[in-house]
Amino acid sequence: GIAILAIDGPSASGKGSVAQRVAEALGFAYLDSGALYRLTALAAQQTGVDWSDEDGVAKVALSLDVRFEKGLTFLAGQDVSTLIRSENIGVGASQVAAFADVRQALLARQRDFAVVPGLVADGRDMGSVVFPDAQLKIFLTATAEVRAERRFQQLIARGESADLAAITRDLQSRDERDAARKEAPLRQWGDALLLETSQLSLDQVVECVLSWWKT
Ligand code: C5P
Repeated sequence: GIAILAIDGPSASGKGSVAQRVAEALGFAYLDSGALYRLTALAAQQTGVDWSDEDGVAKVALSLDVRFEKGLTFLAGQDVSTLIRSENIGVGASQVAAFADVRQALLARQRDFAVVPGLVADGRDMGSVVFPDAQLKIFLTATAEVRAERRFQQLIARGESADLAAITRDLQSRDERDAARKEAPLRQWGDALLLETSQLSLDQVVECVLSWWKT
């Protein structure tokens, strides 16, 4: 069978970096499910579909022309790797992700990432909805302060301007919206192991995940 490792958690918890590193170490494929919601929001915006239009956005999600290649993300042939990371598209992603029909539209596309020998899937509902039979499910988190600080350092390192207070506010409102929604709310589901990373380095988190995988 195909081995699945599901890593869920709030924004800026570091799960993206962790999941990619673990996938590399295990020789597994990697799914950034958040990117699909971001791409859906961007594609809707580019085609004049309002983020509040559930039917319209679900159609956009179904017909997404996306390609992931060498760490880059292409939408209809255009490199949108940087564009989908913008704050505005993050807000749009979290808005369209609240719709059941949009989530349903992305389900098969996400499951298609599962290939031999295995997949590391990163998101909010990987262990609960998309891959409920995953061999290992981890809920990876850190305090809001630590996550805001990490996002802040990331922006500074990229030479972008950043406002820690604004980042903290934005993270909190996005987490609240993700946790409060009816469809696949963000939470640590029953059989997911909690990994609190506030006091850990990226290397330590990767090491921990790999050791859990091997036991
Ligand atoms: O992880 P990332 O910040 O890129 O995700 C953007 C948004 O997409 C999240 O705030 C969340 O609302 C939504 N999302 C989701 N389910 C996933 C991944 C992301 O609802 N599996």
